[in-house]
Amino acid sequence: MTTTRFAPSPTGYIHIGNVRSAIYPYLIAKQKNGTFILRIEDTDRARYVDGATNLILETLTWLGLAWNEGIIVGGKHGPYYQSERKEIYHKWAKKLIESGRAYLDTTSSEQINGYRKADNVKKVPYLYRNHRPKEADLSPEEILKLWHEGIPLRFKSEPKNYEWHDEVMGDLKTGPEVLDDIILIKADGLPTYNFAHIIDDYEMNVTHIVRGVEYLSSMPNYLAIYEALEINHPKFVSLPHVLAPQGNKKLSKRDGAKSVIDYKDDGVLPEAMLNYLACLGWNDGTEREIYSKEELLKSFSIDRIQNSSARFDETKLLWQNGQWLRKIFDEQGAGALYDRTISSDSASLKSHDSNPDRDNLVNFWPESAKNYPEEYQKSVLSIIYDRLKVLSDLREMTTYFFEDPEINVDMIIDNRFLKKLSEDELEDLLKQTVEKLSDLENWNEDTLQSALNSLLEETGKKPAELFSLIRIALSYAPFSPALNLTMAVLGKERSLARLNQAITALNN
Ligand code: GLU
Repeated sequence: MTTTRFAPSPTGYIHIGNVRSAIYPYLIAKQKNGTFILRIEDTDRARYVDGATNLILETLTWLGLAWNEGIIVGGKHGPYYQSERKEIYHKWAKKLIESGRAYLDTTSSEQINGYRKADNVKKVPYLYRNHRPKEADLSPEEILKLWHEGIPLRFKSEPKNYEWHDEVMGDLKTGPEVLDDIILIKADGLPTYNFAHIIDDYEMNVTHIVRGVEYLSSMPNYLAIYEALEINHPKFVSLPHVLAPQGNKKLSKRDGAKSVIDYKDDGVLPEAMLNYLACLGWNDGTEREIYSKEELLKSFSIDRIQNSSARFDETKLLWQNGQWLRKIFDEQGAGALYDRTISSDSASLKSHDSNPDRDNLVNFWPESAKNYPEEYQKSVLSIIYDRLKVLSDLREMTTYFFEDPEINVDMIIDNRFLKKLSEDELEDLLKQTVEKLSDLENWNEDTLQSALNSLLEETGKKPAELFSLIRIALSYAPFSPALNLTMAVLGKERSLARLNQAITALNN
């Protein structure tokens, strides 16, 4: 059975460059009805960050990457926090001691630094195995007797060539010079990542290891450990780097890579994020760009993961988000999109493990929107949704539907279409508009459109002139939806009041 895992270390937030290591294994497992495991690799206590596990949970939950084995949900291979699996690692370490492939290492860090410096001076690559201490020659029985917490345990490497296959990078090989005596168990009794992940993947029946290419250079050491433990290794699926928008650097936190959760807070939809990231470095061979999770499950295949780096492009992500906002509106209706605007957790993705450290209910509307009925907010949404890139745009784009805007005469007279008209002309035009619209009995988008059309004829003005004037007087915003729609939603009373206020302001 296909089994994959996401095995993050709780060292901070999950940034854009790392999430494919969760998305791809999810897809690989789920498309085969297999198992997707969430394991927390927390043996490096110095790098441990409080709250990081909650951010991991929130990210996966938001993206809809439900794991069916691992922390919280449990499973038959637990515990799923590495820090709770010490005995398991010690049992396997013992096996290596017994077969003469692990030894105690009492070398101090000063000594190690000394070796490194000396090798540098000699211009030879620093390899720990060239400085193996005499303890390495003790018998397994002696080592077992002496081994206790406080003394690190190292692997006794046997340099040789390695050849292996990576599902993305192809056939790879290395020479003996890259093998070293790496630490298996640290002085604090906990294993290193290098050792722990091998044991866990084996014990948890993982069939595919999906992780970043940064682990490739350690592969020969891993292969040596698999061999020494006499266990088979899973398939390796190494994901190329995600590059920063500029230059040839890997996207990293240091260069300001945003947390996935920041995009959630900005009002990017999880569908769009999943879609964008899945297609960053993978395609199905067509030009297709929009995929739902279900569609990805159908189309995804390991053999179409690109073996070259992909560049993160926020503009594309936001474009895709716009596509998703429209798709939800068109396919599921205004109500479904509205639900997304009052909570950043989509109803369908909500689950057991919302993050206690954060308020999951982000409301994307302006504060003042809460004084209006839901139906009114929905009608506002219906006329502006196709201009939204992210849901947080709602705040700026819709305030004038909920609060009277501050009158700004300069915005009228400095407008590039209105500059050539005198203030008297502008005032007259607004007066004619008020007169025309006051006569309307039925106030709706169609009657408003015909009234606006006849105003154009009667005044002889260009649409850019007349409509810019009315638009500014109603909203004092840089953009607004079509005028007839804006006024239909604002209502007769408020629309006329705003036009009259502009007349008064121009008059003063
Ligand atoms: N704990 C490792 C990390 O967070 C995961 C590497 C792996 O997937 O094996 O980078």
